[in-house]
Amino acid sequence: MKNEYDVVVIGAGPAGSIAAKTAALKGLSVLLIEKRQEIGDPVRCAEGVSKVWLRKHIEPDHRWICADVKGSRIYTPDGTMIEMAEEIAGGEVGYVLERKIFDRALAYEASKAGAEVRVKTRATDLIIEDDFVKGVKVSHLGQSYDIKAKIIIGADGVESKVGRWAGIDTSLKPVDIETCAQYLMSGTNIDQDYCYFYLGNEIAPAGYVWIFPKGNGMANVGIGILGNKSGNGKHAIDYLNDFVNDKYPDAKILEIDVGGVPVSGSIEKTIVNGLMLVGDAARQSDPITGGGIINAMEAGKIAGEVAYNAISKGDVSTDALNEYEVRWRETIGREIDNSLIVKDTFTKFSDKELNSLGHSLRGVNFSSMSLLDLLYALFKANKKLLWELRVLF
Ligand code: FAD
Repeated sequence: MKNEYDVVVIGAGPAGSIAAKTAALKGLSVLLIEKRQEIGDPVRCAEGVSKVWLRKHIEPDHRWICADVKGSRIYTPDGTMIEMAEEIAGGEVGYVLERKIFDRALAYEASKAGAEVRVKTRATDLIIEDDFVKGVKVSHLGQSYDIKAKIIIGADGVESKVGRWAGIDTSLKPVDIETCAQYLMSGTNIDQDYCYFYLGNEIAPAGYVWIFPKGNGMANVGIGILGNKSGNGKHAIDYLNDFVNDKYPDAKILEIDVGGVPVSGSIEKTIVNGLMLVGDAARQSDPITGGGIINAMEAGKIAGEVAYNAISKGDVSTDALNEYEVRWRETIGREIDNSLIVKDTFTKFSDKELNSLGHSLRGVNFSSMSLLDLLYALFKANKKLLWELRVLF
C-alpha cells in the first residue's frame, strides 16, 4: 500500500472532499482518509444550502436533493410571520440535501479526479519533524501505520483534533458553540416549498428552531441553542420536545441527530508549516445561522489550490501557506466576521424586541429587495439595532 503522497486530507466531509478533488485535479497525488465506514453517515445537519453557492462546486443532482424551496418563513415569538424569497433568505435556504448521498457524491468526485480514498481510517496523530508537519499516523482495522505527505489538510469537523495536534488553538467555550438536536419527522404537513424558522427565548434561547422540508411529507425539525444556555436540567433536546409536542403532537420521529456547530467566528490562525485547517475544523461556519457546508467547500477549494501552488514552489512553510489564510479571510472570513457582530447583537434581544423587529417588517415587499435593502429597512425601523450594528455600514 502506498504510504507517501503530496497531500493527505483528514476527513471526508464537504471541506475535505472538495480539497482532495481540487488538489487531485491539479495533478497532485492525494489521499483522503475518513474514520467512518460510510462517508456521510450518520448525518448531523439540517441539510439546507444556497443554490447559487452550491452550483459553484457541483452540478445539482436529483439523487441528493430532497427539496427545492422557494423561500423561508420566519416567526417571531408573538407569531408574526416574515416571508422571504430564497435569494435573500441566506446561505441555508435553497436546496435541502440528502447529505448521506451528497457527501458520498463529493468523495466520489474527489476519487474521479484521481484522489485515493480510504474509509475506516482514523488519523490518530500528526508526524512533526523540525517544526514541520510531515505526515499522519493512522489506524485502520486494528492496524497502525504512518503516511508521509508534503501537506496535510485537516478537515476533521467540529470535533477536530488535527488543529490541536498541530498546536493551533481551536478550543471552543460553551458560548462559542450552538448545541443542536434534530428529528427527521413525518406528519408535520408543512408546505414543502418553504423553510421555517421560529425565534424566541422561550422556544430556543439564543438560537432558533428550524423546519426544513425533506420531500415525501418529511421534514428536519431541529433546534440550536447557545451552549451557555444549555443546562439547569434543560438541554436542546428538551426545548425541541416542547416545540414538537406543542406544534406536531401526532408527527412521527424517524431519526434523531445531535451535534454542535462552532459559532465563535474566525480563529487566529489556520496554518502551520505543512498543514492547513478547513471547514468546521477551522471554525468557518456562519455564527448567526450555524450553516457551514458552503464555507467548508469554499475553504476546501482554496486549500486545494494553495497546496498545489506551495508544492510546485517546493515551499510548504507558513510563508507559502499564508496564501490560504489571506484568501479565505478576504472571502468567507469577511462574512463570518459580519455574522459574528449580528449574532452577538441578536442573541441579546428580548422576545419583545424580536416581536418589534417582526412588526417593523410587516408589509415590506421582500421580492424586490436585496439582503442589504432588507437590513436597512429593518434597522431604520429599529434605532437600537441600527446603533448596535453600525460597524457593518
Ligand atoms: P464534517 O462534515 O463534520 O466532516 C468532517 C469529517 O471528518 C467527518 O466525516 C468525520 O467522520 C471525519 N473525521 C473526524 N475525525 C477524523 C479523524 N481523526 N480521522 C479521519 N476522519 C475524521 N450547515 C449548513 O450549511 N446547513 C445546514 O442546514 C446545517 N444544519 C446543521 C444542523 C446541525 C444539527 C448541525 C450539527 C450542523 C449543521 N450544519 C449546517 C453545519 C454543517 O453540518 C457543517 O458546517 C459541515 O458539515 C462542515 O463540513 P466539514 O467538512 O468541515 O466537516
